[in-house]
Amino acid sequence: MNTKAYFGKFGGQFVPETVMFALDELEAAYENIAKTAEFKAELDDLLKNYVGRPSPLYHAKRLSEHYGHEIYLKREDLNHTGAHKINNALAQALLAKKMGKKKVLAETGAGQHGVATATAAALLGLECDVYMGATDVERQQLNAFRMQLLGARVVSVEDGLKTLKEATTAAIQAWVNEIESAFYVIGSAVGPHPYPRIVRDFQSIIGRETKAQLKEYGVHPDYVIACVGGGSNAIGIFSAFLGDADVNLIGVEAAGLGADTPYHAATLTKGRTGIIHGMKTIVLQDEYGMIEPVHSISAGLDYPGVGPEHAHLHESKRAAYYGVTDDECINALYLTSRLEGIIPAIESSHALAYLEKLCPNLTKKSVIVVNVSGRGDKDINTVMSYEKGKIYG
Ligand SMILES: *Cc1c(COP(=O)(O)O)cnc(C)c1O
Repeated sequence: MNTKAYFGKFGGQFVPETVMFALDELEAAYENIAKTAEFKAELDDLLKNYVGRPSPLYHAKRLSEHYGHEIYLKREDLNHTGAHKINNALAQALLAKKMGKKKVLAETGAGQHGVATATAAALLGLECDVYMGATDVERQQLNAFRMQLLGARVVSVEDGLKTLKEATTAAIQAWVNEIESAFYVIGSAVGPHPYPRIVRDFQSIIGRETKAQLKEYGVHPDYVIACVGGGSNAIGIFSAFLGDADVNLIGVEAAGLGADTPYHAATLTKGRTGIIHGMKTIVLQDEYGMIEPVHSISAGLDYPGVGPEHAHLHESKRAAYYGVTDDECINALYLTSRLEGIIPAIESSHALAYLEKLCPNLTKKSVIVVNVSGRGDKDINTVMSYEKGKIYG
């Protein structure tokens, strides 16, 4: 067994033989190209001058006053294209280019990872196909058009519920068909080894910057909070603090209409060990092992699996995971908008909503970092429909 492929008992490579070849090639390229000083210098330059890093760590004074604790916001919402996803998409696309690939493939749900990948492909002169469920193409017309503007081809997937799960399956199938010439840019810390490690490493810049910025403020964090869909922004910020036993790490999942209803995406709260998209992890499944449909106000958290490292951190209790409902998320979006002048993405609003549960129970004044994974501009229509009570229309 390739132990490097596992986090505890989670992870692995549950893929057909044809894909194994590409994963081996990817692992070798990651070791031999992505870890060179030359690659790192080129990526750092793009992160600084194109993405706009480092993103600020902002001491949110009015939220701090409101909650009675010191709240710091890591501003991934200020990145080019509006979220943390560009960190990973750009790095993988650069690796693809250095490997001599001409084309990148990606799956997307709401379209955020599709836009990030299409952006990186335009920048680096690569062809780009984005697989998107037909329902999502319909719901997220603006993002689908944005990808086309950037020169990508949007492939509408008509299988099953026509959303992210089916788009991911279709993207993997397309990769198998073009395995020599195409690079699969995965959008979160999920999938078969080595993807969860690669995505974590490319997102770990969030945690490294945060740690250095906290030092500049002269404070030590008690809590680091991030939302969890597949888990890339969360593992990106957690990674710098895993070795600091006194830093509590909290992942927040989408509990939709409630984790005890059928309408949620609270994978770690409600799931069981299973296999999805080439990895062994915690999966929302029925008694027969069929993957269950997920629901959340947030398309970015609407995934029935979770990255294998989070499954391990959950089982080993190094990190704790909680669910936040649609209502709680929207309240946090309003509060952060009104108190700080920052409209957070509805994904990120799940992390912010957890302050409401955490803060009243703390016995000493605490320093809390929340990762604001993205900006809410893309979500204005969703918030408006929610107001009208027709979000699950
Ligand atoms: C996609 C997305 C997420 C969820 O993805 P992770 O891999 O769990 O980070 C969270 N926030 C925003 C803004 C997103 O676009």
